[in-house]
Amino acid sequence: MLVVKKFGGTSVANKERIYNVANRCIEEYKQGNDVVVVLSAMGKYTDELITMAKDINENPPKREMDMLFTIGEQMSVALMAMAMNKLGVPAISLNAFQVAMHTTSVYGNARLKRIDCERIKNELEQRKIVIITGFQGVNKYDDYTTLGRGGSDTTAVALAAALHADKCEIYTDVDGVYTADPRIVKNARKLPQVTYDEMLELATLGAGVLHNRSVELAKKFGVKLVVRSSLNTNEGTIVRRGHKMEKMIVSGVACDKDAARVAVIGLKDEPGVAFKLFNALAQANINIDMILQSVGRQGTKDITFTCSINDADDAARIISDSMDYESLDVNKEVSKVSIVGAGMQSNAGVAAKMFEALYNANINIRMISTSEIRVTVLIDEKNTDRAMNAIHDKFDLGNE
Ligand code: ADP
Ligand code: ASP
Ligand code: MG
Repeated sequence: MLVVKKFGGTSVANKERIYNVANRCIEEYKQGNDVVVVLSAMGKYTDELITMAKDINENPPKREMDMLFTIGEQMSVALMAMAMNKLGVPAISLNAFQVAMHTTSVYGNARLKRIDCERIKNELEQRKIVIITGFQGVNKYDDYTTLGRGGSDTTAVALAAALHADKCEIYTDVDGVYTADPRIVKNARKLPQVTYDEMLELATLGAGVLHNRSVELAKKFGVKLVVRSSLNTNEGTIVRRGHKMEKMIVSGVACDKDAARVAVIGLKDEPGVAFKLFNALAQANINIDMILQSVGRQGTKDITFTCSINDADDAARIISDSMDYESLDVNKEVSKVSIVGAGMQSNAGVAAKMFEALYNANINIRMISTSEIRVTVLIDEKNTDRAMNAIHDKFDLGNE
């Protein structure tokens, strides 16, 4: 059997944790299995690298950021290989260059295109544990790229797909996927399983336990994905295809505090305005999320949308350069709160119940958007944790 095991920052944060991970991997190896390990940078090292960079240059070139980021993961894999060797097991560390993890060229947000597996297979044939840097890739210019924050999960799933692994285990600091972030909602409950589609929505809507593109890839290639803790042996959460085993209408609540709302007031009410606006933003690679257009009055209309807080200032600048309007309002103190559940499409009244929970908590809703399996509201950021708990309680998600 071939197993890909990914360990996040907290799981390799210090010497004890590194040995803990080494021992867990060796246990698997000693059962006769091939083991590929993917690691993140130790602890909060990636954040520390950002602080260091910004101290030198508050607006560092993205290429150089990626060059810097790669140190973090490289440190983890080398130390892990040393630990395993010390424990008497042959292990080798490889970075994205040595494996050849080909990505698109976008620094800071590259996508994996192809992985050359030959080197990995050769090392596995020699009965070594192969330890690979997460998060990083190489583009057509032979430069390092990174996959976006939290991207090591995606490296792991992509490797599992490319190597036709029997399973991909994501080890983290919680023992599975919960009905809400357990740091925010104390009575959140661990889900024994969750479908790819639900997990993809949850991850995209802010449940940082998995990088959303890792779920996308797992779904596409049918990778058996398990989320579990590196600190205990509890059974984790299986992310899988297919039907819900549970009769739950809502599986989880997620929040994203990194949202911003941009309101463009007094645009001309004529054809092509939305196209011009969103095309200008798309040209600048700015992802737009919720969109609301007001009813036209006296020849004008308003368009409000949400984007990542990091893109809000760029968006405002682009709009002021390219559009005619009366005023522009950027609000960074907002957050998105969403409920997700495959059972929602066949049950009326789910959205109303969510709105009632917010009403009872006296929380105002600023925007609403829905899909077949989710409802998202935009609220003031200061109310996020209260909203999460109110909604979680309303749907009684803490009880099976
Ligand atoms: P790692 O460094 O191992 O990749 P992350 O910090 O990226 O770990 O992800 C784990 C964290 O995700 C947890 O500590 C938890 O606070 C957060 N999280 C958010 N939503 C959820 C959820 N629905 N279930 C479990 N954890 C969640
Ligand atoms: N070290 C990177 C980050 O902090 C990648 C990851 O942890 O998955 O975002
Ligand atoms: Mg993570």
